[in-house]
Amino acid sequence: MDIRSLMPSFLRTLIPYESPNEGAPEGTVWLNTNEYPTATKYEMRFETLNRYPQVQPALFRSRYAQYAGVKPEEVLVTRGADEGIELIIRTFCTPFKDTVLYALPTYSMYGISAKTCGANVLTVEAKKSLGLDTLGLCKALAQNPDIKVVFLCNPNNPTGNTVSRDAIIRVLEAAKDAIVAVDEAYIEFCPQATIVDLIEKYPNLAVIRTLSKAFALAGLRCGMILAQENLIAALRKVIAPYPVPEPVAAIAAHALSEGGIAAMRQRVELIRGNRTYLKESLAKIPGVRSVYPSQTNFVLFEVDEPERIYKSLWEKGVAIREPGSDKGVLRVSVGTIGECKLFINKLTQVLQEAGS
Ligand code: PMP
Repeated sequence: MDIRSLMPSFLRTLIPYESPNEGAPEGTVWLNTNEYPTATKYEMRFETLNRYPQVQPALFRSRYAQYAGVKPEEVLVTRGADEGIELIIRTFCTPFKDTVLYALPTYSMYGISAKTCGANVLTVEAKKSLGLDTLGLCKALAQNPDIKVVFLCNPNNPTGNTVSRDAIIRVLEAAKDAIVAVDEAYIEFCPQATIVDLIEKYPNLAVIRTLSKAFALAGLRCGMILAQENLIAALRKVIAPYPVPEPVAAIAAHALSEGGIAAMRQRVELIRGNRTYLKESLAKIPGVRSVYPSQTNFVLFEVDEPERIYKSLWEKGVAIREPGSDKGVLRVSVGTIGECKLFINKLTQVLQEAGS
């Protein structure tokens, strides 16, 4: 039996999200998925795993609400930000009718999730500078009443730049009949850029957050959607029951304790220091055409032949990301200082080989 023929045709041709962590040489240095480079140890005992967990973990929710400056009822905990992205689309888009809008280049899961939900995808082409085309988004909204969800990534992956508050407000004002989902996965690296305070004013604003980045818990799979209560209530109609396993809720609550938040802020400082090293070193390498400013834990830079450079680095045991834009860019996550030095060293070698 051809299993693929059992799938709906719109899913048969889908290119899934690529998590390129398979088949790597032993000892590979992982600088490709914007994780924190080292782990925190958690030890816990669980004596009630025979029971379902709380539908929404109360302690974590209240601590996160306090940390983010919203009410606990305005927080929905999800299985990573990725589940949050899909949930927003599933809740608000009628399959084969409605449209999801975003500007390129950005996080690929907006498009992939839209397609798996049967939503149409409308993209605004990248500007030369790779900055956000706010006007393009507003025009698309004005022309297209089927747009139900707009994604804005702030700061943006893969460019690393922030979107101005003004630009976000312009999109919110243009999106009279659509949800504006602002993905703040990397906001801990530039907390002043958050627009979470706008939730009070805009009933159609959803802010997406995660513990996968500055909280160093990508393996936990814990994300949050912050929005007014009516929007949260709509999402709760669609989310599967008990989305947050008890051990996840316990570790997440610990990460949001006073000590946990202080540790997160120290991590951010360390990453900023390593990022400065990475940016300055990249700028000095012949063959690196330019280095983009970054407010995140990754850096985008331009080279000739990015695909070849990416492959050579992979063969030398350094995994970075080729975000696939015609600009000739590569993205490297900020690791430990040792990992950053190793990367700079190998990249210099690879570019020298390319030039010789
Ligand atoms: N949003 C952005 C912009 C991301 O870069 C990522 C992960 N790389 C996610 C969301 C997904 O985060 P999570 O691990 O919480 O699913």
